Amino acid sequence: MRRREFLGSVGGAGAMAALALPGRLGAQTIAPLLAPLPAIVPIRATPDRIFRTTVCLRPFRAAGPRFDVEEVGRKHVIRHYGHGGSGWSLSWGSADIAVAKAMALGAKDIAVIGAGAIGLTTAITAQRAGAKVTIYAKERFPDVRSARATGTWSPDSRVALESAVAPDFPALWEQMTRASYARHMSFLGTPGDPVEWTERYMLADEMPDPNSARSSNAPRTLGFVEYGDRVRDLTPRAQMLPPGSHPFAAPFVRRNSSIAFNVADFARQLEMDFMLGGGRFVPMEFNETGDFGKLKEKVIIACTGYGSRALFRDESILPVRGQIAWLIPQEGAHYGIYYNHVSVLARRDGIVVQDTGSDDTFGYNDPNETIDRAAADRSIAVVASMFAQPAATIPATVPK
Ligand SMILES: Cc1cc2nc3c(=O)[nH]c(=O)nc-3n(C[C@H](O)[C@H](O)[C@H](O)COP(=O)(O)OP(=O)(O)OC[C@H]3O[C@@H](n4cnc5c(N)ncnc54)[C@H](O)[C@@H]3O)c2cc1C
Repeated sequence: MRRREFLGSVGGAGAMAALALPGRLGAQTIAPLLAPLPAIVPIRATPDRIFRTTVCLRPFRAAGPRFDVEEVGRKHVIRHYGHGGSGWSLSWGSADIAVAKAMALGAKDIAVIGAGAIGLTTAITAQRAGAKVTIYAKERFPDVRSARATGTWSPDSRVALESAVAPDFPALWEQMTRASYARHMSFLGTPGDPVEWTERYMLADEMPDPNSARSSNAPRTLGFVEYGDRVRDLTPRAQMLPPGSHPFAAPFVRRNSSIAFNVADFARQLEMDFMLGGGRFVPMEFNETGDFGKLKEKVIIACTGYGSRALFRDESILPVRGQIAWLIPQEGAHYGIYYNHVSVLARRDGIVVQDTGSDDTFGYNDPNETIDRAAADRSIAVVASMFAQPAATIPATVPK
């Protein structure tokens, strides 16, 4: 996850402009403007607390996700993949578009290929539209790549390149984002907290630029789209925290709130909703599109993520590699931090730590899915440096 993925669309231009900065407004003046800080349980960042390390490839397309409808043999196939670093965030809104295309073909029985974030949300959306749906997939949770995502609201993270999108893409993206957001909000307060709002802390050694039009200071070598301004109303504004009001070591700390997906629970809830809707899973691998002929359904929605590159021989899909070190979850630690190109999201199903790289080429077109344990350890050391008092030295009375 890069810095903008961490910030999602909440820390961008509008939020930056709205910051109350200590240099302009004294800390004493700022303090009363801030809501009380929630207790921040320090992260216990030591390599022995890593319980797994995972690598995931974002299914990136320079032009943004595909929605093409085509004939393959006697089947109608809707290609529905290429969501880059935004698949969880955009899932519901993207599903609305793909399912509308399937229903327009008069589909009553639909085959969805793929059981990741896009496959499950597409299947549930098709059921709600009145179709009988079967999911065919090589893997299911927890083995799909979607299980290895950071799990934050990041609808415009590595989702397309500015230079490659069609003129109508920004509006389509906004439509997907707003529809997705609304559906995600309907999961708030449900058992297991599949979706929840959590606090995020952006740490910096230098004063953030309040006039920057960008949500990230990372150099834009490739030029991924940045659309945060279009949906500024969906998320709160960032605030500067006065020195001494937080446990972090960095001199400048901003706080905002964003959406976290507790992916393990979210996936289970989606699978259950699908089955309660009469859905069925069939394990199946497709080696080529000719294999679609084996299915009884005439309408197929292919939600095959990065696997689409091989299945459709689609070279417009490129891998963008990301590695996550998972620390043991901690009672009361449900927040995120970004500092020094490392992001932390303390979720209920693990504290995910990711090196996000110092510019937007990090991981781009890198298909290597091998775990780099030394890199994981380095990122954990950065997490330890985020706190003024290392968590390891805090007395045992502090909650685990
Ligand atoms: C490190 C990292 C962090 C991320 N963080 C976030 C985040 O915080 N927020 C966010 O919104 N997004 C995030 N993403 C992006 C998100 O994870 C992806 O966009 C999303 O997982 C794509 O989902 P999918 O269902 O298309 O693909 P997948 O999860 O890969 O699912 C594909 C499905 O298709 C099946 N399949 C593929 N090929 C075949 C075949 N030939 N035959 C049969 N079945 C097949 C697979 O078995 C699987 O079931 C992140 C990605 C990475 C790598």
